[in-house]
Amino acid sequence: MSGLYLHIPFCQRKCIYCNFYSVAKLELADAFISALALEMKEALQWFPCTKFKSLYLGGGTPTLLSIMQLEKIKMLLDSHFSFTENIEFTIEANPEQLTRSYLQALQKLGVNRLSIGVQSFNNKILSTLRRLHTAEQADKAIRRAAEAGFNNISIDLIYGIAEREADTWRQELQNAFALPITHLSAYSLTVEENTILYQQLRKNKLRPVDDTAALRDYAELQQAIVKAGFRQYEVSNYCKEGYHSRHNSIYWNSTPYLGLGPAAHSFTGTMRRWNLAHLERYISNLQTHNNYWESEQLSPENCYNEYIMLGLRTEKGINLHYIKSNFGAKYYKMLQQQLLDISSTFYQQQDNQIKLTAAGLLLADSIAAALFV
Ligand code: SF4
Repeated sequence: MSGLYLHIPFCQRKCIYCNFYSVAKLELADAFISALALEMKEALQWFPCTKFKSLYLGGGTPTLLSIMQLEKIKMLLDSHFSFTENIEFTIEANPEQLTRSYLQALQKLGVNRLSIGVQSFNNKILSTLRRLHTAEQADKAIRRAAEAGFNNISIDLIYGIAEREADTWRQELQNAFALPITHLSAYSLTVEENTILYQQLRKNKLRPVDDTAALRDYAELQQAIVKAGFRQYEVSNYCKEGYHSRHNSIYWNSTPYLGLGPAAHSFTGTMRRWNLAHLERYISNLQTHNNYWESEQLSPENCYNEYIMLGLRTEKGINLHYIKSNFGAKYYKMLQQQLLDISSTFYQQQDNQIKLTAAGLLLADSIAAALFV
């Protein structure tokens, strides 16, 4: 069954590494919600399903919206779509917004999973990243969320930051796993062109991002998750047993999903579609019945490459039998030939299943690229 993603495109200010679409124009929030209502109505015409097993409010910073605004969105969703009884309902949140009353209101709304953007438990690193919260605020927000009844709390951390010493990262991981969390998304710092980080590096205002820090931190992380009883189920995602992200697994399993809001992406199984990454144009085009999206039909080659790329990122890996029956013997034979060029330290094969090792997961994207058609 499919998942539903809503992109809430508001942030107070931009973090240095971020290339997600967001703007600091909260005064447009009500107009955005009215446009979302129009998009929901249109989605009923083209997306192949109306019942969802997961709902994910991401962004941007969804928790910049007031509870009344979130209630309005939920009401609109309920009047257009239906959801399974055991729905996973996630909201992305920044620590500074998670007051006791806000958390209680989120619970009433049906949110049962929080994804908190912590990024670091070190104030110097947080300030370098231009985050608006402190480590103490993050710690308190997580404890407060657990007290409010949330038993599925994910946090995001960033590693591979040249400014951070190895000991600091080790300490931060200890802090993280001492908290009532069930899931961790840990991303290596990457430099995207349209980010403040890119500009700062060009002006030599920061130490260059290098692989040494990322490799060192990744190795530390692998040890820490074992101690904490977590397992790595995707390149950047770790969980306690039973707490994998059901919504993100939809993306990795190539299951259809509907994305609403500016810059949101959708996938039907054979077609990808993405909305304009421009809030004002998204709103006005919906109001005036003009196009607010683009799409592409996926060729068999695209579908095969996506299967390889997404599958190799997960603990399940890719399945040779599935490749033979879904893409044909030609692809099957070609893959077996290509695998001869990949070192066996990076993958293991058990019957028909091919999975990357921990060392291979770190190179998942380049290994996948070597296996593309
Ligand atoms: S990282 Fe999150 S809070 Fe920071 S700018 Fe990006 S979306 Fe906004």
